[in-house]
Amino acid sequence: MPHSPSYLFLSPAAWQEKIDAAEALAASCRLCPRACGVDRFKGEKGFCNAPGEMAVAGIFPHHGEEPPLSGARGSGTVFFSHCTLRCLFCQNYQISHEAEGECYSVELLARKMVDLQKQGCHNINLVTASHFLPWVLRSLQMAAEAGLAVPIVYNCGGYESVQTIDILNNIVNIYLPDMKYGNAESAKKFSAAPDYVRVNQAAIKAMFRQAGPLKCDGDGVAYRGLCIRHLVLPHGLAGTFEILEFLKSSFDPADIFISLMAQYFPAYKAGEHKELSRKITAEEYAPVKEAFLEAGFNGFFQEIAEPQADLKFKIDFKTRKNKALTGE
Ligand code: SF4
Repeated sequence: MPHSPSYLFLSPAAWQEKIDAAEALAASCRLCPRACGVDRFKGEKGFCNAPGEMAVAGIFPHHGEEPPLSGARGSGTVFFSHCTLRCLFCQNYQISHEAEGECYSVELLARKMVDLQKQGCHNINLVTASHFLPWVLRSLQMAAEAGLAVPIVYNCGGYESVQTIDILNNIVNIYLPDMKYGNAESAKKFSAAPDYVRVNQAAIKAMFRQAGPLKCDGDGVAYRGLCIRHLVLPHGLAGTFEILEFLKSSFDPADIFISLMAQYFPAYKAGEHKELSRKITAEEYAPVKEAFLEAGFNGFFQEIAEPQADLKFKIDFKTRKNKALTGE
């Protein structure tokens, strides 16, 4: 098969080595940079509040991701419960803060991923999976043995340790990380992660070393590479221009696919913070978009959406568990 995903060529011994490495991290938890040190296999909870078994809030074909990911048949998306960031403006707060979701065995997730492939999904899109890494890897190995053969997308908040990214080498084909902040002050205030900028920049470099520039097949569907998401916040709070400078100085802009997002709305507790309590304006967004384009970055540059368009792909995880998300 052209562009066969790398995980199809991993030996059982190589899978086991990766699972062992992930289990060692989870036993005194360092699965993310918070390094809480709790024993996840004993059910001890750290900052993310994740239990000692996998929890999934929704799993369905998603037609609202970037075009190279959703393609014509959707991205097979798995939303894991809990999060290592818990941003106070999170639009998925039901799963990141409120623990919506149900326990999934390794076998059940493997079956569901194969089922997404049977439904025609172009890829398996793992959303915030790092705090369940040992279980996720075992599911992926099982699914691969049962015929899974589409690319694996690692969709995350970008707060990842390089150690975890190293384990994912030859398993993940497409990295879809956020660069949420370019300044430590906002990262501390809104995501309780004062080290976010340093950690995020190191993770982005590690992801690019592994996956390289985003590559698409003849239908424009991605099969490997890095796509960086950035959500512009009001009042320049995300430090967008600092992120732009980092990217310009670290990469050839022609190699980097950016998904620049204008869809911010004050979700969860954002309304309690005056500076986050409104959407962004056209005057804030236009110079940002122009700067990325002028620098030569490839990608997907969202327009400031109509009020109703904003809500098209908003997900209520209390009601949507398996049904495809088409925006209709
Ligand atoms: S995954 Fe959770 S428990 Fe583990 S280090 Fe990160 S926040 Fe702490």
